[in-house]
Amino acid sequence: MKVLKFGGSSVGSAENIEKVVEIVKSATEKNSCAVVLSAMRGTTDALIETGKLAESGNKSFRGKIKQIKAKHSEALHALVPISAQSALLDFIEIRIGELEKICEGIFLLRELSPRTLDRIVGYGEILLTAILAAKFDSLGIKNVWKDSRELIVTDSNFGFATVNFKKTNAQIKEFFKTSSSKLHILPGFIASDADGATTTLGRGGSDYTAAILAAALDAKVLEIWTDVSGMMTADPRFVRNVRGIPRISYREAMELSHFGAKVIHPPTIHPVMAKGIPVWVKNTFAPNDFGTLIEAETSPEKEIIRGISSIDKISVLSLEGSGMVGIPGFSKRLFDALSRASINVILITQSSSEHSICVAIEEKLGKLAKESVDKEFEYEIAIGKIEPLRVENEFSILALVGDNMKAHTGVSGKMFATLGAQGINIHAIAQGSSERNISAIISSKDVRKAVNTLHEEFFSDGNKQINIYIVGVGTVGKKLIEQIRLQSEFLRANMRLNVRVVGLAKSRNKIFDEAGIELANAEILLKSAPAWGIEEFVDLILEKNLRNSIFVDVTASEEVIHVYPKLLQKSVSIVACNKVAASSDYENYQRLKDLSREFGTAFLFETNVGAGLPIINTLNDLMRSGDKIRRIEAVLSGTLNFVFNNYDGSRSFASVVRQSQDEGYTEPDPRLDLSGIDVARKILILAREAGFKLEMADIENKGFMPESCLHGSVEDFYAEMEKRENYFCDLFETARRDNFLLKYIASFDNGKASVSLQSISKEHNFANLSGKDNAVLFYTNRYADLPLVVKGAGAGADVTAAGVFADIIRAAKI
Ligand code: ADP
Ligand code: ASP
Ligand code: MG
Repeated sequence: MKVLKFGGSSVGSAENIEKVVEIVKSATEKNSCAVVLSAMRGTTDALIETGKLAESGNKSFRGKIKQIKAKHSEALHALVPISAQSALLDFIEIRIGELEKICEGIFLLRELSPRTLDRIVGYGEILLTAILAAKFDSLGIKNVWKDSRELIVTDSNFGFATVNFKKTNAQIKEFFKTSSSKLHILPGFIASDADGATTTLGRGGSDYTAAILAAALDAKVLEIWTDVSGMMTADPRFVRNVRGIPRISYREAMELSHFGAKVIHPPTIHPVMAKGIPVWVKNTFAPNDFGTLIEAETSPEKEIIRGISSIDKISVLSLEGSGMVGIPGFSKRLFDALSRASINVILITQSSSEHSICVAIEEKLGKLAKESVDKEFEYEIAIGKIEPLRVENEFSILALVGDNMKAHTGVSGKMFATLGAQGINIHAIAQGSSERNISAIISSKDVRKAVNTLHEEFFSDGNKQINIYIVGVGTVGKKLIEQIRLQSEFLRANMRLNVRVVGLAKSRNKIFDEAGIELANAEILLKSAPAWGIEEFVDLILEKNLRNSIFVDVTASEEVIHVYPKLLQKSVSIVACNKVAASSDYENYQRLKDLSREFGTAFLFETNVGAGLPIINTLNDLMRSGDKIRRIEAVLSGTLNFVFNNYDGSRSFASVVRQSQDEGYTEPDPRLDLSGIDVARKILILAREAGFKLEMADIENKGFMPESCLHGSVEDFYAEMEKRENYFCDLFETARRDNFLLKYIASFDNGKASVSLQSISKEHNFANLSGKDNAVLFYTNRYADLPLVVKGAGAGADVTAAGVFADIIRAAKI
């Protein structure tokens, strides 16, 4: 004997029912079969809604019933030849007529008891099984339809009834003993109480019906046919790269389903486990896939963790009070009070001080729990021995399951470190004494991120998904997008990083796509994108709460830096090309560094100095390895270097500056470069990274630009420079007469920093810096006489974008 169960997910349409028929047909060739069906997809929900509409006095319940009737009649028409339809059409007519009468009654009374609701929802499985039986009849396959309510007896806990196994097993055995058919078809989910009233076994309960039959009949296998190829390492609706679990133990399957893996209804395993009957989860739409075999023992496999599951809509109840310490019986009274109210406890934790007990239950039962528990402890609450029960909502339970966990140390450490790194707060922890599961209560808004991150950590062959938000799509931003587009395949193949740009913002236009923005079309997409403020964009980032998120600031905007703290605190890394933050008030700089440390989130800004050159990283490495920076000499402005390398009086100074701007070397406002402010910011950042507490005002800036050039608009600036051409020509000629070169040099020495235009001899370290090159000389304790030199192109969109990209990869690896 085989028991096969098909879920609503397998029977959404006539076409799907044909697939079920094929599977059953081939099963009956060798075995007697009992086939359990649940309702057609969506029918149980529709029936519940019908009842609720009627209860609330909404006449549209009648339309709902018509839809339910039409859906089943259509399926019948499609499956069974017209000549064989009439008996079943009558059957549907009669059942729908009953349903209408019941709902009219509810509508009149405005009252829907759990008992009546069970009666209503039962019609879904009754109608579908009758249609399947008619289909087999029409194919000439003999079968017997049997109402499960005549076999399965329960208590009267409507909605989630408890089975009376003694009576049930006897009735099942008796019935099958007397029936000679090789094929029986039975509705899942429904049963009846001692008075014969319809009860149900809980949502998803058809699996359980099938298990009860399998156990009573000593079936050789229970097959659960659904819409996925077996149990997976996580819920495939949540996680993309789930893996199938070919074999799993009863206990592991039980834990996974208890903690939310909907593929199996939680109580299902119990009756079959007691009899050692294997359960095979199979896919109706891919019957040749192996699926999952659930048995007593699994072969020893290397995986420590078998799967991850989660349950939403959880309330956390906390009972606290000094009066609880050392006095026996408090927990018992708490659980008695919950049990009296028929509240199922999903998870329990108790603090070691015995000062508080925390239990997780379904959110919808929270109010009832509070009434029942506060009543139980009425006296203790009145005299202040304990606090009234605290009920907190919007939680989820997350569980890591695996038989092999007990043999390995560090699983919980890894689990909590992974969650912590993503900024996910853990409200409570429980570890089953069997060491087969570790569960944590977290806020529901974090659950998707948590399941995905843990799955990546425990199952994904080291592949890591990185979610990037880029703000600022100017020259550098565009190059960056292009580089990411071209490099993403390499990163996936060689670094196991799956880099996805999910958000883009250009001035006020912003786009978001969780599946990854199509980068080749980014510009076009941005043009038609809606306008949002930066704050709204950040709210979206926090609301989406994607794992491994990196916010990349490629603007020069003051406004954008104000959102950094909010992001760092939520474990969103920051990669800034924007220098404003690192060169703002020391206090602000330090706060960002502290937040980054506190939340284990990257705050990287290598491109703030020398574009893509590894200057800040080199400095950080020196410091980390215990070296001390004594002195820094540097040419840090690609723009100024370019300007003084190209200016020889043959064309105006202004036109050389313009060329530098056109070639993309300057800040968006070139006066920031020409005034020396940009260089001052850079040496400030280096000094700070070297451990010195400096402010911008501490940097001596001996600017060379005539004051008159630095006012008005950018165009005024160019015009004024043209007017002052003689001044620039003089500067050049004076240096040339002495055979000197002009360089804009930043120095830091003994805690003091300055920037100035200097005439240097042709033997000077910086003399042969060409084009837009930068150079930094670090004099340190270890590099005392000959400095450590970093030199190369220090400006340009391509190299800057490359530097930002390198920071992104660094942040991803943290
Ligand atoms: P049925 O109607 O066949 O009973 P269900 O919808 O009750 O189907 O259960 C199947 C669904 O369970 C799958 O479509 C899948 O989305 C979900 N599910 C949740 N967790 C898991 C898991 N760990 N493995 C497989 N499926 C899971
Ligand atoms: N039809 C019922 C439900 O939707 C039972 C089941 O699907 O197993 O909950
Ligand atoms: Mg199900």
